[in-house]
Amino acid sequence: MSKKIDPESLALHEKRIHSCESCPRLRRHCLAIAKTKRRSTAAEGYWGRPIAPFGSLDSRLFIMGLAPAAHGANRTGRIFTGDRSGDWLYRALHRAGFANQSESKSRFDGLKLRDAVVSCVVKCAPPDNKPAPAELARCMTHFAEDEIELYSHARVYVALGGIAWNGLWKLLQQGSPRAMFRHGAEVRLAKQPSWREDRFLIGSYHPSQQNTFTGRLTEPMFDDIFLRARELLNVSEQDRREALAASEVSTN
Ligand code: SF4
Repeated sequence: MSKKIDPESLALHEKRIHSCESCPRLRRHCLAIAKTKRRSTAAEGYWGRPIAPFGSLDSRLFIMGLAPAAHGANRTGRIFTGDRSGDWLYRALHRAGFANQSESKSRFDGLKLRDAVVSCVVKCAPPDNKPAPAELARCMTHFAEDEIELYSHARVYVALGGIAWNGLWKLLQQGSPRAMFRHGAEVRLAKQPSWREDRFLIGSYHPSQQNTFTGRLTEPMFDDIFLRARELLNVSEQDRREALAASEVSTN
């Protein structure tokens, strides 16, 4: 049987993230960006605080990015929202049936994820999109570790970029030799004592402009990642039903 969903734990987790001040350099940067803004969004209020995951606790697809964008999530308050990386991500999730719409402009735009949650290994926007190793380690210890526990229904993890891949590997497979990150890499994770079903990790290039403008990542390549995630979830659901049917037969 799957773990009970605990919305209170999620609310507490979000509250802890929103009020975190553990990395002075990152907090200063987020607040400075929120104050100076940029010309095209100067009239908007900026969020300026750390960013919590977006998606419901019973999601089976867990997507991990690197960090909020300075004028994206740090402005809008929702991960991958209000920037071009988010446009790519939510368009792909919509095409694969994991989102009710492709548009992601603000926290109030009506976007709802279906069976998917989006998070990031570092919750504050870092200068030049580069968290220091100590900041990355700190944020993962404070929050990402808890998210693996909280989102215990996750069966497929998608890592957007090498840092998210390494982070997820550390959280899910501590002690095992790490598989190499590449776009399309897929690993059936070694089962942990608390897991009943198989879980999978898929690697994807991050949909940053560095990758999308250069053609390193194309929309069909990105679509393939989420279509494969969908296939793996379908297999996982089939396995779960068969296991349930077998246990019912054996108890009758
Ligand atoms: S990066 Fe993480 S640990 Fe550091 S201040 Fe932001 S939320 Fe806190």
